Amino acid sequence: MMLGFLLARAGIRVVVLEKHPDFLRDFRGDTVHPSTLELIYELGLLDEFLRLPHRKVDRLSMQIGSRIVRMIDMRHLPTHCKFIALMPQWDFLNFLADHGRRYPQFDLRMRAEATDLIEEDGRIVGIRANTPEGECTVRAELVVGADGRHSTVRAKGGLRSSDYGAPMDVLWFRVTRRDSDGDEVFGHIEAGTMMVMLDRGDYWQCAYVIPKGGIDRVKANGIVAFRERVLALSPFLADRIGEIKSFEDVKLLSVAVDRLPQWWRPGLICIGDAAHAMSPIGGVGVNIAVQDAVAAANRLAAPLKSGGVTDEDLRAIQDRRAFPARLTQQIQLTMQNRIIGPALQATREVEPPFLFRLFDAFPVLRRIPARLLAVGIRPEHVQTPDAGAGSVT
Ligand SMILES: Cc1cc2nc3c(=O)[nH]c(=O)nc-3n(C[C@H](O)[C@H](O)[C@H](O)COP(=O)(O)OP(=O)(O)OC[C@H]3O[C@@H](n4cnc5c(N)ncnc54)[C@H](O)[C@@H]3O)c2cc1C
Repeated sequence: MMLGFLLARAGIRVVVLEKHPDFLRDFRGDTVHPSTLELIYELGLLDEFLRLPHRKVDRLSMQIGSRIVRMIDMRHLPTHCKFIALMPQWDFLNFLADHGRRYPQFDLRMRAEATDLIEEDGRIVGIRANTPEGECTVRAELVVGADGRHSTVRAKGGLRSSDYGAPMDVLWFRVTRRDSDGDEVFGHIEAGTMMVMLDRGDYWQCAYVIPKGGIDRVKANGIVAFRERVLALSPFLADRIGEIKSFEDVKLLSVAVDRLPQWWRPGLICIGDAAHAMSPIGGVGVNIAVQDAVAAANRLAAPLKSGGVTDEDLRAIQDRRAFPARLTQQIQLTMQNRIIGPALQATREVEPPFLFRLFDAFPVLRRIPARLLAVGIRPEHVQTPDAGAGSVT
């Protein structure tokens, strides 16, 4: 959506296909980081964006065993917004879509599911999609696969990913939030369990972490046992835990970490999770996908205007974005494999790792993870012009 909007804004005709009729998907992250807010500022849309309902988080703590460790402090970031805006992603996507629609060259087609690529002489020249009106084809100078971690586009393009594994899956459910609940502690790890709670105003979006493939065991133990495990982590939910009536109210989200060795082939490139599926750790995936989109727009706007996207352009996008994606995934894998995985297997009380205790003890150190998480590695800036609604290529 971000890439479509930026290219349309630069005067290039874009077709965005979305298989669902709306953006009300619960699997999406809610964390709009300072890096993304900075881009929205650069687009001149920040005031309007911040008028949408959201919650601000400028510090993050985590409870590990019996100890609460303060880990991240964003109040000193070199960005206009020194906080994460917690906003349901459907609001963010609708915001971008509404701004895209101001340009006649932006053609967003909902309920259009990409099913195959059109290839001629070894080059991708378009896409096939199922729509309520039947199959349609879109021919294009360039196809961009931004269709997430189960990407059809990358599979049809024959791009194969390397899987780095994830020791966990996530059970996703909501319970009522009260203003008296407090909001700074965002995650809690105990031996054998972990839960993260996202403040969505009148309810908590809860992510209860289980060992990979452990859903059958959780279900076999029954919903009462599940509620008890949740309460052990967040006892203040006792008066509303009954809102989780059955496993119908609990969705399984599988976590993957993978990456394409090559993100492109002539006429096609993948970005976001389609190129590098991110773990939920740090809530960075959405923001990295947005950074990919900005880098792609910066590189592609000129060649798309002149109708001559080369392999060199596509290679340059991967060269620019592969390093931030790889390093961020490495940090996620270290957290997964050194902290979360062992904690989920632990039978005795878990302790915060030494590094986390340092963050807790020395406030100035909390600026380091803040910078990594909230600004990211190699932050992008909008370099594409606003060509206005009349200039179409
Ligand atoms: C449990 C869990 C929690 C997470 N929490 C966070 C978080 O809090 N913050 C964060 O930043 N990241 C989070 N992430 C990571 C984040 O979800 C991804 O990194 C991010 O969504 C990637 O964005 P994307 O645009 O590349 O793909 P997606 O967000 O997956 O978007 C892909 C889009 O393509 C559409 N689509 C798919 N196939 C087709 C098709 N064939 N034709 C047409 N349309 C199609 C989908 O409907 C979707 O709209 C989480 C991940 C998991 C697994």
